[in-house]
This record gives sequence, structure tokens and C-alpha cells, in this order.
Amino acid sequence: MQKQRLTLLGSTGSIGDSTLDVVARHPDRFSIYALTAHRNGDKLVQQCLRFAPEVAVVGDAATAAQVEQKLRAAGSKTVVTYGPEALVAVSKSASCDTVVAAIVGAAGLAPTLAAAKAGKRILLANKEALVMSGDIFMNAVCDNGAVLLPVDSEHNAVFQCLPDEGAKRGGWGGRGGVTKVILTASGGPFRTREPATLVDVTPDEACKHPNWSMGRKISVDSATMMNKGLEVIEAHYLFNVPGERIDVLIHPQSVIHSMVSYADGSVLAQLGNPDMRTPIAHALAFPDRVDSGVAQLDLTQIATLTFEKPNYERFPCLALAMKALEQGGVASATLNAANEVAVEAFLNRRIGFTAIARTVESVLDALRNQAATSLDVVLEADAAARRAAHTIIDSLPVPA
Ligand code: NAD
Ligand code: MG
Repeated sequence: MQKQRLTLLGSTGSIGDSTLDVVARHPDRFSIYALTAHRNGDKLVQQCLRFAPEVAVVGDAATAAQVEQKLRAAGSKTVVTYGPEALVAVSKSASCDTVVAAIVGAAGLAPTLAAAKAGKRILLANKEALVMSGDIFMNAVCDNGAVLLPVDSEHNAVFQCLPDEGAKRGGWGGRGGVTKVILTASGGPFRTREPATLVDVTPDEACKHPNWSMGRKISVDSATMMNKGLEVIEAHYLFNVPGERIDVLIHPQSVIHSMVSYADGSVLAQLGNPDMRTPIAHALAFPDRVDSGVAQLDLTQIATLTFEKPNYERFPCLALAMKALEQGGVASATLNAANEVAVEAFLNRRIGFTAIARTVESVLDALRNQAATSLDVVLEADAAARRAAHTIIDSLPVPA
């Protein structure tokens, strides 16, 4: 078997760790061409010594110099580069077959889009990149023969439950008898909290997810349920499903990762323990199935699966994302950028938890929506939303 040569964007993050765990179980199938990190040079050095990539990419020259010095001292031949262009270079390189897109936020867009244009197999965790660029990204995938496999657990579940042709992007129109895509959501750490008590939750409380262990940005997004809103937009573009055909269902146990319902009344679901190594292994080996290291599901142990309707009052971010999808154009990019700025401000204790939704809403209200006619238009909308979000945040009091 030809080994799949991987570029792993964001290797030092939570998805990066899980991906390398699966890769290490199958040295006969996968080799690493490139690993990338932003600032965590020491962790990247450890990963390079273990997986011996040809190239390692970091965010800046100073980190690159430190990483390079440590690698040389350890006898490693990995070439060290840095900056956004270096991320693009390892994503489109002829030396890699598959790009795992696991950078958090808008910073992942350029290299992921470059992978699409180079016709790579792309394992997409970086939902923000798709939410921002929507049709532009999907057209790049289709026009260049790239293969897009979802790693986000819900979308990976939907992918597994769709009829075969669902794996490709066709017209909707009740394709294969599909009537609905049902995205499950745990409801995060504040599922049962009174909305009035959310004002003074801390970043650590918001990042304490009941079922999943993840990076801090997506953990906050799960607490506000903006994550589910971004995932509705992600599902719309990935599977070409209209927004009104996508339901969100609260399922606190996170055992059913999502479902697809059909015209004959059937509902197909994908179940598993909440561990990202399952969707990562599925996408890495697709269409084969390989060991992911995740324990088999013991339903007698879990015993009860429950479901609830989402509460849009407690989770205004979910409603805002649905509205942005309905508005179309650059509204999703505006929503995403405002959210990234607001979440960072919350993590830095500059604003309170409930100010995240208020900031995103104010930015969406303040900026004019327009058709997403080109990548430049999208990037301008992203920049304008960031400026507007900073202005709003500057006017807010620092929480006590
Ligand atoms: P994380 O914060 O743990 O890791 C982020 C990675 O991106 C790190 O390697 C970091 O060095 C890199 N990075 C950060 N900023 C960068 C920048 N400006 N330029 C280049 N690299 C940068 O995040 P994560 O939880 O692994 O999530 C990664 C992506 O996967 C996110 O888009 C998230 O929404 C998505 N995702 C994560 C999970 C999960 O379980 N963690 C599940 C589904 C989807
Ligand atoms: Mg998800």
C-alpha cells in the first residue's frame, strides 16, 4: 500500500494531538510530510523528533530559530520555515497527498484553500475557514478535484449517514430521499443554567465541557452554542443542504453524533464514544475502517439517551448564526470574525460571557451585508467585522 503523506496544520492543538495518536497506530498507512504550530515551539520539537516530518512550520522567525536550534541539537533533519506563506507552501506541496486542516479560526483559511486549489484530499476540522468562505471554498474543491472529508464529529456522522452520493456535492432536491440533517449538540457546560446567572461565568468555567476535551476557543463556542451555529453553516456548505432542512437537537450524552432522516420515516444515526479520534480515523482511512484507539461503545453502561429542544434565549449565538446563514452573502464571515474577536476578549477577561453574543449581534447589525463575490470581498468583510468588534469591546466596561 502507498503511504498517505500528510500535512498536519495545527499539529500542537487538540485535533493535532488526536490526529498524531491515530497516525502513530498505523505507520504502514501514513507518513508525515509537514507539521505546523503557531507559538508552541517546544511541543512541535517533540512531535518532530517522534514523527520526523520533512518540514516544520511556525508562526514567526524567533520561534523558528529556537525550533531549528533544538532540532539540530537532537540530530533532526526537519527543515524549519515560518509565516503564512510557509503554511500555504506545505499545503499545496507535491510531497503531500492529504492536508489535515486543524488550525483554529480564520488563520486556517489561506492554507486550506490552497490545499483545495491543489486538488488535495482535505480533512476539515477548521470549520471557521468554511464558514467564512462558503461557496468560494466549495467551488475550489469541486473545480480542482479535491476530496473534502469532514472531521467535525457531527459532520463526519452526517457524512456516514448520507446515501453514497451524499459524499459528493450535488443539487439538494430531496436527493436520495433525505428530508433532514439533524445536528446533535451537548448543550455545553451551561445547558441548564438560568440565563441571568451567565453574566459572570469565568473562562475556566466556560471551557469545562461536560463530554469533550478541546481547545479553548471551540470550548467557549460550545458554551455559547455559537459552535453549533457555525456547524449549521458548515453543514449547509458541506452537504449543500438548505438551512431550513438542518435541525439542532440537544443530546447531553454526546453519544449520537448526528443523524439524517429519510422520506420513508427512517432516521440513520452515527454513535460512538465522544472522542475525536473516531471521526479523524474515519476520515484518514476512508473508505477503509481502522483502529482509532477509542473504546467500543457500551450502551448498557450509558443506559439512557435523552433529547431536548435548543433554548434560543439562553443561547442567542445559535439564533444569530442561523440568521447569518439566512442572510447569505458575507454575513457568515462577519459573524465568524466578530465571534473570534469577542471570544478572545472573553478569554482575556476583557468582556463578560454574555457580551460575546451582544458584540456579535451589534457587529452584524452595524455592517452592511453584501454578496460574497470573491475572496477579497470576504477578507474585507472579515477585517471590517474585526474592527467593529474591537470598537464595541473598547466601549464596554472591564468585568469585575
Ligand atoms: P487548539 O487551540 O487546541 O489548536 C489550534 C492549533 O492551531 C494549534 O496547533 C495552534 O498552534 C494553531 N494555531 C493557532 N493560531 C494560529 C495561527 N494564527 N496561525 C497558525 N496556526 C495557528 O484548537 P482545536 O481544539 O484543536 O481546534 C482546531 C480546529 O478544529 C478549530 O477550528 C475547531 O473548531 C475544530 N474542531 C475541534 C474539535 C475538538 O475536539 N478540539 C472538534 C471539532 C472541530
Ligand atoms: Mg462539532
